[in-house]
Amino acid sequence: MKLAMIGFGQAGGKIVDKFVEYDQRHGSGIVRAAVAVNTAKADLMGLEHIPDEQRVLIGQSRVKGHGVGADNELGAEIAEEDIDEVQGAIDAIPVHEVDAFLVVAGLGGGTGSGGAPVLAKHLKRIYTEPVYGLGVLPGSDEGGIYTLNAARSFQTFVREVDNLLVFDNDAWRKTGESVQGGYDEINDEIVRRFGILFGAGEVEAGQEVAESVVDSSEIINTLNSGGVSTVGYASEEVEEQQSGGLLSRLTGGEENDSLDTAHTTNRITSLVRKAALGRLTLPCEIEGAERALLVMAGPPRHLNRKGIERGRKWLEEQTGSMEVRGGDYPVTGSGFVAGVILLSGVTNVPRIKELQQVAIEAQDNIEEIREESEENLENLVDDGEDELESLF
Ligand code: GDP
Repeated sequence: MKLAMIGFGQAGGKIVDKFVEYDQRHGSGIVRAAVAVNTAKADLMGLEHIPDEQRVLIGQSRVKGHGVGADNELGAEIAEEDIDEVQGAIDAIPVHEVDAFLVVAGLGGGTGSGGAPVLAKHLKRIYTEPVYGLGVLPGSDEGGIYTLNAARSFQTFVREVDNLLVFDNDAWRKTGESVQGGYDEINDEIVRRFGILFGAGEVEAGQEVAESVVDSSEIINTLNSGGVSTVGYASEEVEEQQSGGLLSRLTGGEENDSLDTAHTTNRITSLVRKAALGRLTLPCEIEGAERALLVMAGPPRHLNRKGIERGRKWLEEQTGSMEVRGGDYPVTGSGFVAGVILLSGVTNVPRIKELQQVAIEAQDNIEEIREESEENLENLVDDGEDELESLF
């Protein structure tokens, strides 16, 4: 499906920048337009693939291009004040050609955390196309203020979008790696998963696979449940075996075909299990997910209806959902078969509860420390005997 992507803040900009690169490399046709919005000039300058004229610096009169620190209330205020500048960049997008908006941001910082929900609200008021969010949760080692920012932004962002797709940095961070190197890998993972998911709806249905190709309306219907979504992924290398090869000659063409079919089906069902039960973008209990979509991507001869149907049924059992859709994403010449599962409307998410708990503690601590510091400062400045007088 064709998306207008808007990256808000540093993480949002970098992720959208990577989507643009992925789109160019794979010709997947999912990024119809890309915009980056930031209060920090340096972050915008660091982007590589989003065109210059689609990079919007906001809040110049307030923060002079230096960013908002991790103050997401200021981020939200600036976004509201300068929404016309953002709209100016969106005006250049042929919105009638996009299926949906995707607003991307790291929720732990300031600019994206505060600005993304403001932009989502604005877009929903103006356009009829769905507005989705892609929100990145901070690692639990990032500290209290990031957790507090994320918890508050999450709550607001979910309310303002048609569906919030979540990626949890905490579930993906590796110890002993530089933050930058870590983010590069994490961003690759984000773009791979969502790239396949959204790319699935962009395939022109060819004759041999016409019936089972995923359509963008199926992605939209799955996301229509609203709420929070998570994405699972698993892949396996396959050899693009040429017909008439040694095995085929030894076993006879037909027999080889049926052997392949059973193998192909089993591979698909095992990939579906791995994708659903492995690491999700937002770890959660899949039981209770309101809707799901299974996308099997790979060379057409390695995909089959039976495997997808079995995988779909299994997902129905595991989630208890009555709305599990499934289909192909044929990618001729690819060396992999990959299963991507979108679980939409998930509600049993311990990580969010933990995030909120830590956020509340952080909020209380911040308040306590503030009061204490005020008192301490008073004690420091006060000479105790009221003997000194201020100048004015
Ligand atoms: P902002 O520019 O003020 O919106 O803040 P940032 O986007 O720099 O940071 C917000 C949060 O996003 C951080 O707390 C990190 O958890 C996360 N983050 C920052 N950069 C990246 C990135 O490149 N990839 C990912 N996945 N997360 C990032």
